Amino acid sequence: MNAVSRILVTGGAGFIGSHFTRQVLNGAYPAFSGAEVIVLDKLTYAGNEENLDPVRDSDRLRFVHGDICEAEEVAELMHGVDLVVHFAAESHVDRSIAGSAEFVLTNVVGTQTLLQAALDAGVGKFVHVSTDEVYGTIESGSWREDHILEPNSPYSASKASSDLLARSYAITHGLPVCVTRCSNNYGPYQFPEKVIPLFVTNLLDGKQVPLYGDGLNVRDWLHVDDHCYGISLVAEAGKAGEIYNIGGGTELTNKELTEKLLEATGRDWSSVQPVEDRKAHDRRYSVDIGKISAELGYAPRVPFDKGLAETVAWYTENREWWEPLKERAALA
Ligand code: NAD
Repeated sequence: MNAVSRILVTGGAGFIGSHFTRQVLNGAYPAFSGAEVIVLDKLTYAGNEENLDPVRDSDRLRFVHGDICEAEEVAELMHGVDLVVHFAAESHVDRSIAGSAEFVLTNVVGTQTLLQAALDAGVGKFVHVSTDEVYGTIESGSWREDHILEPNSPYSASKASSDLLARSYAITHGLPVCVTRCSNNYGPYQFPEKVIPLFVTNLLDGKQVPLYGDGLNVRDWLHVDDHCYGISLVAEAGKAGEIYNIGGGTELTNKELTEKLLEATGRDWSSVQPVEDRKAHDRRYSVDIGKISAELGYAPRVPFDKGLAETVAWYTENREWWEPLKERAALA
């Protein structure tokens, strides 16, 4: 693609979007080193402007408090944008089981609103951040990008819908869209309702942690820095209309993950409370990253044990970040 001078990052006050924004502004991605970043974020319960504090003073950052479903506002922001990286979403499976209306609004309608505005404005590249959950569940082997989509939760169904809408704008209108489908992210600034920060912060406080079902569900773990690096490669050189899986290469059962977190925080299995399984809990996720590796030279760079130790250290040292969030969201 042509030189990028302005990037629109939706959901840039959330966990992954804020990491991507900080990395762009810190010069981690040479292709985007001088680019201005507009963050568009609704600041839902999961959005937190403090996540951008480390780059707050950058004159290349503009923060806009707004909703991706608002067509007029989105159209206005899209002028002069070379690249859209679309993270904004309702992202928590358990919340989608309790109620899915917001998921359809933000994830489906919001994505369509952005795609249309990007098309109207002639944006040079649109990266839609999707998830491996759109594939469903897999007993053995790994999904390639051409695997059928069989999402099982309202969250993953809404993500699959937006993922297909993104593809349709490439096929129908020729909008230069790439879709990325990544595995479970972990790292600093992750909202403490997700398993790693929830478990770490509970364990640090001597509280119980809830382990779903038999604890044998398998997830592939991807450090947020590797995920954002993969997205940067796709943004720079991914082929328009293509889908790229992004994985971390460390598959663990939830029990194995819990064991590591107990060790890291000096607790034992008496801190673990088995709870009824999540409805329709996908048994295993596993992405084949052969395509992004071969075409764009991607490989995960953060070894899991090192990434996890740094993540636990970050939550240990940043209580003032997560304590108010847990209190506000009434997370045990
Ligand atoms: P997050 O919940 O931490 O952040 C989402 C952000 O989007 C928040 O800042 C929120 O305020 C914002 N937002 C929500 N609705 C909005 C709206 N209508 N308009 C504007 N902003 C809105 O999520 P995350 O973990 O950073 O995930 C980012 C993206 O990556 C999502 O699309 C998610 O589906 C995808 N993803 C995440 C993971 C993971 O492990 N976290 C894995 C696969 C894919």
